Amino acid sequence: MTNETPASGRAIRAIAIFCGSNSGDGNRYIDAAASLGQALARRGIMLVYGGTHKGLMGVLANAALDAGGTVHGVITERLHGRGHLHDRLSVHEIVSDMRVRKERMLDLSDACIALPGGLGTLEEFMEAWTLNQLGDVDKPVGLLNVDGYYAPLMTMIDMMITHRFLPPAHRDSVVLAEDPDALIDGLLAQPPMSVPKWMS
Ligand code: AMP
Repeated sequence: MTNETPASGRAIRAIAIFCGSNSGDGNRYIDAAASLGQALARRGIMLVYGGTHKGLMGVLANAALDAGGTVHGVITERLHGRGHLHDRLSVHEIVSDMRVRKERMLDLSDACIALPGGLGTLEEFMEAWTLNQLGDVDKPVGLLNVDGYYAPLMTMIDMMITHRFLPPAHRDSVVLAEDPDALIDGLLAQPPMSVPKWMS
């Protein structure tokens, strides 16, 4: 198994992936989760995710495992107690609560991706993006933009720029792609954030 290190020097050994604990309304989301899981395994990148068998999360983990990949699940005591777990992960870690879990997932990873999902997916992804914006971490973030799912979010980001709540350069700090390999390549090529958050 090889890890990804491009000419720019950024190494990606593990990616934290946030995605729906539901499957969405069509095969396109399931197919995209499976393709991303397979791409991670093929490229020797460990999947770090929320540790359940449910929804797109389960599809992603199964695809990575079936393709010979390494999968580290981090789940909360509460969800684990409710039977939300995947029974064949490479590493299965139980932590006290959602906040500790988010921190742990980011600690284990070199980058973050969100697939389509709901409130949990958006909240986890936006925290990772914000920490990069503040310079607290340098772990590039990307959206798997299946069938334009994240176009409305990017419209909101443009609104922030128009009204001077966000420097334009920060729009470029998220990688958007429909294809999993293009997304991972974009993360590898992403430079650290160098433009300050605060505008004069
Ligand atoms: P959502 O997009 O609202 O379905 O939430 C999915 C995100 O929240 C995932 O990335 C998980 O980290 C977390 N999450 C929500 N539900 C679960 C669950 N049943 N088991 C594990 N993690 C979950």
